[in-house]
Amino acid sequence: MSDHLQQYLIRNAPYYRPTSNEIALYEAAYALRLPLILKGPTGCGKTRFVEYMAWKLRKPLITLACNEDMTASDLVGRYLLDAEGTVWHDGPLTSAVRHGGICYLDEVVEARQDTTVVIHPLTDARRILPLDKKGELVHAHPDFQLVMSYNPGYQSSAKDLKQSTRQRFGAMEFDYPDAEVESEIVAHEAGISRAIAARLVGVAKRSRVLKGRGLDEGISTRMLIHAGSLIRDGVNPVEACRMTMTLPLTDAADMLNALQGFVEAHF
Ligand code: ADP
Repeated sequence: MSDHLQQYLIRNAPYYRPTSNEIALYEAAYALRLPLILKGPTGCGKTRFVEYMAWKLRKPLITLACNEDMTASDLVGRYLLDAEGTVWHDGPLTSAVRHGGICYLDEVVEARQDTTVVIHPLTDARRILPLDKKGELVHAHPDFQLVMSYNPGYQSSAKDLKQSTRQRFGAMEFDYPDAEVESEIVAHEAGISRAIAARLVGVAKRSRVLKGRGLDEGISTRMLIHAGSLIRDGVNPVEACRMTMTLPLTDAADMLNALQGFVEAHF
């Protein structure tokens, strides 16, 4: 592996609590270098799962958070001016393609469609990345794999993946785990008892029922871990939940009251 990608190797095993047979499925997909889409709500464990798999497969992981201002050059690279003149700099996608990493495009639908089309020739049998500005055709390293995540929950049709993009990928579905498993994860990550974690999960479950009924999204596992960490550090649980679970989630006063009611019912 090139020195450049060494820094992207995950050295210590990330904590990942499987919820089904997702590890075996990912390994089978990786063996074929099948590009993957991970679907699921925000903060439910998609990124942690990819980190865990990259560690398990001993492959460097290059993660890129996508946004609508992102251009194809942010992915593939560009010429930059330095003391020696104009020098080409590989972008994160090109580095992964050239040197054999897993490239993870987080929240890919945030990127414009003219940006995401650069991945097309990489995700079929050709496995090539044309660098038009440089006049180079990069053949993907045998270890290269492309993984993208997105949240099908709050998408407008303008921000959807094109069929021509979708149909190149395999997909895996993620969701918040059942209450017992989620409590185990929250207790582990926040360093709190299972009993307190279960109460936090109870609040989250009730909030998730309101998705599409006034809330864009319910309270995520990530938010529960933030609340749990504050509680562990001595913050009053009701205040911890307000700070990390209810206030960040919504600005609507009636919804906030309802959520705070759930919190008070559990603590
Ligand atoms: P996403 O990428 O889906 O937005 P993350 O992977 O960042 O979400 O998950 C948020 C946090 O939730 C992680 O940092 C991790 O602490 C925790 N988490 C969620 N699911 C799991 C799981 N199955 N095993 C271990 N940790 C998890």
